[in-house]
Amino acid sequence: MNAHQESCDVIIVGGGMVGLALACALKHSGLHIVLIERREATVRESLGRDCRVSAIVRGNVRILEGLGVWPYLEQSAGPIRAMRIWDNQEPGGIRFDAAEIGEDALGFLVENSQLQKAMHRCLLDAEHVEYLCPAELERVAWTDESVRATLKDGTAWTAPLIVGADGGRSWLRGKAGIDCHQRDFRQQGIVATVRPERGHAGVAYQRFLPTGPLAMLPMSGGLCSIVWSADDDEAGRLMAMDDDAFLEALNATFGPVLGRLVGTGARAAFPLKAQLARHIVRPRLALIGDAAHTVHPLAGLGVNLGLRDAMVLAQEIVDARRFDEDWGELSVLNRYMKQRLPDVLAVMGAMEGFHQLFTRDVPGLKLLRGAGMRLVGNSGAIKHLLMRNSTGLSLPVPRQIG
Ligand SMILES: Cc1cc2nc3c(=O)[nH]c(=O)nc-3n(C[C@H](O)[C@H](O)[C@H](O)COP(=O)(O)OP(=O)(O)OC[C@H]3O[C@@H](n4cnc5c(N)ncnc54)[C@H](O)[C@@H]3O)c2cc1C
Repeated sequence: MNAHQESCDVIIVGGGMVGLALACALKHSGLHIVLIERREATVRESLGRDCRVSAIVRGNVRILEGLGVWPYLEQSAGPIRAMRIWDNQEPGGIRFDAAEIGEDALGFLVENSQLQKAMHRCLLDAEHVEYLCPAELERVAWTDESVRATLKDGTAWTAPLIVGADGGRSWLRGKAGIDCHQRDFRQQGIVATVRPERGHAGVAYQRFLPTGPLAMLPMSGGLCSIVWSADDDEAGRLMAMDDDAFLEALNATFGPVLGRLVGTGARAAFPLKAQLARHIVRPRLALIGDAAHTVHPLAGLGVNLGLRDAMVLAQEIVDARRFDEDWGELSVLNRYMKQRLPDVLAVMGAMEGFHQLFTRDVPGLKLLRGAGMRLVGNSGAIKHLLMRNSTGLSLPVPRQIG
């Protein structure tokens, strides 16, 4: 049998937010990109909104602006003008205001499906990007010169580089024989859209409970999106409740900051894990987004890290081509990996630290937590630094790919 064979310049596996961002970043590069996504996106609605949302930090909004994606999102994105964090010990907690760092917002809350739709719109005029969906890979094989990916329909694509953007359970990572450092929090993140009695004024709330954080994130239209991290058993109990009982539990836990929470949409629960691939690159393979690293959603940084991966990898590919280098070679891919690892490790380390600090009920840690919160709250300089770091504003703005 003579199977259909084609060649291209980069194969991207996975058309989630991160894989799509890479395709958008490469759309003007002149390179022939093939993006393979196994299924059409489905939206899980909750009060008429996607229950999957992402807080995109201010620094990364600049990336989306540069890619031409942001204009399609501006109307629906909810600005996060301030953030308040508190726990049972320090009821006042800390408040971070965007105005303190001269910004209009710390970030924006977007529905994942809206972000993906905006990226698809950006790709409509991309002559050199082929989007194959639904399409599933059956085999992948590497040689010194190229990688060959064979789809279930028999079509085979050959390229100098394949990129794994296929999420936390990456098929491609598995096929490359790369395993992960893993931490299972034995928790679920419960998400839903809720309606508060009072206006949220663009404030994101994060309440730390002994079991994990409960985030109440401001959406457009006065709604909020919750991410409630709870131990597996407790999460099972919360998911089994009817809406009225769930709202009761939520009100009792969150408190009256926004008046009563008076409505809730459908809920969904996601297991919470942290993981880091033991290799982010191999010859003719690069991992980006959750395929490379998965972080606890408590700071809402997973997609944010992935967007930065996509931009840095796109730059390295384009630069390699400009200087007549083979962009699938390990020396080129190592440049991507070396730029990204410090950011990824810093975020993973900070998330683990926060998780330990706020969930372990040890007296010493409680004191440290209280002292830390007071120190940050009272020191303008520390607060300023924290805000610039967590919003991605202290990071260099990636060059846009042209
Ligand atoms: C409860 C919760 C809340 C979160 N909140 C935030 C937040 O506020 N901010 C933030 O930055 N991050 C947040 N995150 C993290 C964020 O959702 C992830 O980091 C992000 O979805 C990763 O995007 P990705 O494109 O790398 O992977 P995915 O979103 O997993 O996409 C992978 C894509 O690959 C496709 N695919 C998989 N296997 C194959 C295959 N073999 N062939 C072809 N296609 C394949 C899938 O269908 C999918 O479309 C949150 C996570 C959770 C669980």
